[in-house]
Amino acid sequence: MAYSQPALPYADNALAPHISTETIGFHYGKHHATYIKKYNDMVAGTPLDDQNIEDVIVATANNPEKAGLFNNGAQAWNHSFYWNSLSPNGGGKPSGEIAGKIDTDFGNYDAFKEELANAAATQFGSGWAWLVLDKGQLKVVKTANAQTPLTSGMIPILTIDVWEHAYYLDFQNRRPDYVAAVIDDLLNWDFASQNFLNAQV
Ligand code: MN
Repeated sequence: MAYSQPALPYADNALAPHISTETIGFHYGKHHATYIKKYNDMVAGTPLDDQNIEDVIVATANNPEKAGLFNNGAQAWNHSFYWNSLSPNGGGKPSGEIAGKIDTDFGNYDAFKEELANAAATQFGSGWAWLVLDKGQLKVVKTANAQTPLTSGMIPILTIDVWEHAYYLDFQNRRPDYVAAVIDDLLNWDFASQNFLNAQV
């Protein structure tokens, strides 16, 4: 079924100066919108058209004949998740249950932060860095291109887009500086906590 682009959960200038209005204009307004249009065009009229986008992503993973549908569907979903992973009031240390779980699974917040920053910096080429819940344990993973933890049975908690289009207008080649700004000032821990608590039930 057609997938609609969710409204941006903040104003297009709310993440500045780290992520500029210009970046949002291209990234949300062009890149994300185009993935969604292509996904809707490709899924229409196929036997998968009655399924929701998450099920289509899982059904088309690792199938070279369905690569176009998978890539556009996964990019559509990953970007919606990314916009929610950011907040103008985000960043820094979380609180509540997820904070305790980070201490349990990573040792402490600083160790988690280093692992996430390292994953985001070392994803070669385009891709994503993720905090996921995998069989009850919080982990940091990275995925290439459109790949998503949804296809590995992991539950996404937060993500950082590390495709160049996510940061090039604001940071040029300095991906680590973009990642540091996201971690320190933008990560939406309210969204992460909600994803973590939903995974418990
Ligand atoms: Mn992107």
